[in-house]
Amino acid sequence: TAANGATSAPLFTVNSPNVVYSDAEIRSKYTYRTTMVTGGENGTFTATPHETVYDFKVDRKVPKLGLMLVGWGGNNGSTITAGIIANRRGLTWETRNGTQAANYYGSVVMGSTLKLGTDTKTMKDVNIPFHDVLPMVHPNDLVVTGWDISGMNLADAMDRARVLEPTLKSLVRKEMAEMVPLPSIYYPDFIAANQEDRADNLIAGSKACLAHVEQIRKDIRDFKAANNLDKIVVQWTANTERFAELIAGVNDTAENLLKAIENGHEEVSPSTVFAVACILEGAPFINGSPQNTFVPGAIELAEKHGAFIGGDDFKSGQTKMKSALVDFLISAGIKLTSIASYNHLGNNDGKNLSSHRQFRSKEISKSNVVDDMVEANSVLYAPGEHPDHIVVIKYVPAVGDSKRAMDEYSGEIFLGGHQTISITNVCEDSLLASPLIIDLVLIGELMTRIQWKAHSSDGAKEQDYKSFHSVLSILSYMLKAPLTPPGTPVINSLAKQRAALANIFRACVGLEPESDMTLEHKLF
Ligand code: NAD
Repeated sequence: TAANGATSAPLFTVNSPNVVYSDAEIRSKYTYRTTMVTGGENGTFTATPHETVYDFKVDRKVPKLGLMLVGWGGNNGSTITAGIIANRRGLTWETRNGTQAANYYGSVVMGSTLKLGTDTKTMKDVNIPFHDVLPMVHPNDLVVTGWDISGMNLADAMDRARVLEPTLKSLVRKEMAEMVPLPSIYYPDFIAANQEDRADNLIAGSKACLAHVEQIRKDIRDFKAANNLDKIVVQWTANTERFAELIAGVNDTAENLLKAIENGHEEVSPSTVFAVACILEGAPFINGSPQNTFVPGAIELAEKHGAFIGGDDFKSGQTKMKSALVDFLISAGIKLTSIASYNHLGNNDGKNLSSHRQFRSKEISKSNVVDDMVEANSVLYAPGEHPDHIVVIKYVPAVGDSKRAMDEYSGEIFLGGHQTISITNVCEDSLLASPLIIDLVLIGELMTRIQWKAHSSDGAKEQDYKSFHSVLSILSYMLKAPLTPPGTPVINSLAKQRAALANIFRACVGLEPESDMTLEHKLF
């Protein structure tokens, strides 16, 4: 694992003329192979293999990284902070099931592996930790802070969250008691009225203004300087806001959005103000909640500044299952006809979502997650046809953070038969979401260190190195309603999202995508 701020020896090196390692960089030449299709007469197609040659360049210096969470004192914020401390200190604690050790289960980067290739001697797969494919920050080295409209220190916030075992809490309490969120911006109309009683830690002013943008930028700069950090990533894990209305002249362009902030327009949300501040400060900003923080003007502003943004809404439980299960059903040729999803939860997120306009944001982000899989199957579905899909969320205080998700999937099988699958999923919501925060910050940071350039068809190098597009759709695996560059398709299928992530990582070290053909075990 790379030490903070340094380059360390990688777990593997690639032995290829297309890959060059220097102390500063890994450079690879990679042939991206796709298939271009033209439609002919009578619904026929011609498919033509297509190649583009790219150069990739990965900066090997792992930065000293700060993570700033908006909503730090919430369930996710306090849980991830305790989790990082527990891992950093290698803590173990007693539970009724025995001794528990800190881990990063549930994080793709920290908890899963990738097939590197086939062992020359045994012909078995060699799998390596995802974290070792490219030089990445280790979460134990993250320096964490954040903002919250509730001024409660993180130790008390952890009690309020009712997520962690008392034995673990007692081990991290002292350190967390000294952590107090920075004051934040609060425009009451955007979150549920039932949140008002915790709003005691506020920057003055109840609508958007340039002073708010400046204060957040200053908070980022101050934190960076005080802790000697190379970079900051900011994530919104604060309450779900209502959708902002899209209004021409207000939030449609970067220029109009900045003007709207200056004029204190009431349709500019706190999360958009945070996004704008981060974009102007060059800190990647990731939205873990469902609302439309990234209004068109915010996306345009990010593109203009070459800043990175990602969103929306952590994909932790029910939707993650859905984007795996629906992919399986429809890919298996089973005609899914309905999905009915019920949730109940008793944490503050549930309380906020018991208010209609905030629930509506969640309903929208949970609703579109099967569209691409349905549209892709013209054998089962006529154009415009789609399964019935409803989402219900209820607030039941007694169950606390232990969210219940009950889903019924119905589908049509061979010759008019029916299949109904019922799933009940019970788990601590914040223990599912926290590792996603780790993945988003680690991958988000890495994307600031990857550059590419394309070769033209005659092989001449076409342009200077540049970054990936501002909208980091590579983060889709972790997000319910993935934001993609304007005009590009949204991929919801979990398997495709993971393949994109893994294969882009592989391309950066000049390795082919893992095709899973395993011809070496079939043709001999
Ligand atoms: P939470 O209510 O416990 O925490 C949110 C925190 O944000 C609170 O402490 C609140 O005081 C603070 N806050 C509200 N407005 C703020 C503002 N303008 N500035 C700064 N702080 C503000 O909720 P949570 O369970 O931690 O979830 C956080 C968000 O993540 C929610 O929007 C939720 O919908 C979303 N999310 C959570 C999960 C999950 O937990 N599994 C999954 C997907 C999305």
